[in-house]
Amino acid sequence: MTGSQPKAIVLLSGGMDSCVCAALAAREFDAAALHVSYGQRTEERERQAFLGICDRLAIRDRLLVHNEALRIIGGSALTDESIAVPESPSVGREIPVTYVPFRNAHFLAVAVSWGEVLGAGKIYIGAVEPDSSGYPDCRPAYYEAFNRVIRKGTREGKIEIVTPLIAMHKHEIVRLGLELGAPLDLTWSCYSRGDRACGVCDSCVLRLRAFQQAGTTDPVPYVESTVPTGSL
Ligand SMILES: [Zn+2]
Repeated sequence: MTGSQPKAIVLLSGGMDSCVCAALAAREFDAAALHVSYGQRTEERERQAFLGICDRLAIRDRLLVHNEALRIIGGSALTDESIAVPESPSVGREIPVTYVPFRNAHFLAVAVSWGEVLGAGKIYIGAVEPDSSGYPDCRPAYYEAFNRVIRKGTREGKIEIVTPLIAMHKHEIVRLGLELGAPLDLTWSCYSRGDRACGVCDSCVLRLRAFQQAGTTDPVPYVESTVPTGSL
């Protein structure tokens, strides 16, 4: 990376979508990566994924932030141990209990603050609307509105959130990741386990289906009994 290359920030949770998004950002920009942990069940495993992906993509500028508010507020199966992570896909139904209330706004606020200081022009986020869990903060209109907030509320008003994956199906994201050489083997998507992926939570089911539809095998380890045999 050269000092003259324009900067971009990528929100990198450590999951598959954010990894592909980071590979795109690193190809076009001097990328800096932001990871926000928020007391989620697989916090440590996701942080490990973040660091591994940054290493592989040669992203040296990294910011790790802990958001205490989301954990204390709770209200999600990801942050509240008393709410079980559902073991079935919720695509096309109501907003699932794994939705963390207004989470992406917290992440984006940190990214915009950092972007102002770094002089970054773009913020990449791997939000996906089709095939996803129906989270309201993954819709295009939300990002259009957020960009208006940035234009009105920052020093120069020139930072833009970009969502290159938002209209893609999950299997297309897998294929794009493979084309880009994104380190999908280092990613972590499971909501409930950090040793091996459970294979049955929303996130695992969507991910397994995506790899299957892309005609390839997911490189991360799963609990053996949960790997599907073509029924998805
Ligand atoms: Zn899982």
